Amino acid sequence: MSVCQSCGFERKYLGKKCPACGEPYLTLVELIAEQEANDEKHSFKGRCKRILTAENSKDAFWLEVELIKAGLSKKSIFTIFLIISFVFALTLSVL
Ligand SMILES: [Zn+2]
Repeated sequence: MSVCQSCGFERKYLGKKCPACGEPYLTLVELIAEQEANDEKHSFKGRCKRILTAENSKDAFWLEVELIKAGLSKKSIFTIFLIISFVFALTLSVL
């Protein structure tokens, strides 16, 4: 956390304001809260919470699916596909 949160200017001394844009620096507590909010946004727990608290949970669910898909690369989609087909093949062979 050594850059200004508003303009990205490198934070070289422990002042209360950014020398580049004059915005006050966030305190450590604010930074941690922001970090936690950001983590939750991308965590499984955060996603579930958003789906459950949404008015239309079905729409919210598909929105999250779209967001996850947008965040994935083609390679990771392929990996997930491989895992699913492997599990599927295993299940079939047991039945
Ligand atoms: Zn700044």
